Amino acid sequence: MEERDHAHASADAAARGAEAVAGAVAGTVAILGRPNVGKSTLLNRIVGEKLAIVTPKPQTTRNRIVGVWNGAGGQIVFVDTPGVHGARKQLNRFMVGEAMAAIQDVDAALLVVDGTDGRPGDAERTILDGLREAKKPVVLAMNKVDKVKDKSAMLPLLASWNQLGDADAGDGGFAAIVPISATRGTNVDQLVAEICRMLPAGEPLYGPDMLTDRTERFLAAELVREQLFLRLKQELPYATAVVVEGWQERADRGDVVIEATIFVERDSQRGIVVGKGGSMIRDVGSSARVEIATLLGRPAHLKLDVKVAPDWTTSPGALARLGYTP
Ligand code: GDP
Ligand code: MG
Repeated sequence: MEERDHAHASADAAARGAEAVAGAVAGTVAILGRPNVGKSTLLNRIVGEKLAIVTPKPQTTRNRIVGVWNGAGGQIVFVDTPGVHGARKQLNRFMVGEAMAAIQDVDAALLVVDGTDGRPGDAERTILDGLREAKKPVVLAMNKVDKVKDKSAMLPLLASWNQLGDADAGDGGFAAIVPISATRGTNVDQLVAEICRMLPAGEPLYGPDMLTDRTERFLAAELVREQLFLRLKQELPYATAVVVEGWQERADRGDVVIEATIFVERDSQRGIVVGKGGSMIRDVGSSARVEIATLLGRPAHLKLDVKVAPDWTTSPGALARLGYTP
């Protein structure tokens, strides 16, 4: 049977309600910020399902990923983006391009910063400049407040962000500043309410059972990549890409057989990814398989292969072949 090539939908999305409500808002919102501040964690928290992979390593997210929120107030189409950071390599330039391009396509933005150490820096200035130029309203989320014991220590930080918003936007700065914890869910409802306030009234853009624009195939490849980021050390995760090359639905068994290839840049890296006696690839496979089965809501079998694509992170042609096309 063919791969289900439709975008990933959630069974209980309809239960959360996506009917057009009188006065309800509808709009698109880019989630922006430097790497590792918790953008993907926040997207997953708001949408209620793991669409974007999350690891402690910066620059985990590589592509724009849409996640749809439906609530009483309307519908918000969030766009998770790779972090904005200094970019030299072709892959990194692609990632920053994904983030900055998202600004043009949305109605509003959500700037996420690390509330524990996040003084305004170059990344935020670049983003705010882009937003101001495009005339997009922005809400600021100060994330990771669960790590702050003494909340009064955040006041000077709040003040410096408030000032930056005023100075940069000229016309009143941030629409709102909300301290949140994406991992615990603290204040996330208030944040969503503030975002709704920035959006125009309108009909939902996505059907009630659409959760993301990404296919199950893409999400499965990402879950393999997440395990590589969690398990590989130093620079090696950044040299890996994952492509799903086979997808077989077995109607008689109600399961799916997925074949994926992990690409690395050099032969020596291949050895590390395979591991001693195949131990690394086995661990990556079994953990990813559990995550994929949870996501799909049906049993999954995962066959992994490791291949070398020399210098793929620096070659535009290879990037495109591995799925990194704007
Ligand atoms: P992104 O690069 O901005 O998408 O950040 P991620 O969502 O991948 O998160 C980066 C790291 O920060 C992960 O280890 C998350 O578990 C962690 N993180 C995200 N949100 C929070 C939070 O609210 N509190 C704490 N303590 N950690 C968080
Ligand atoms: Mg991310």
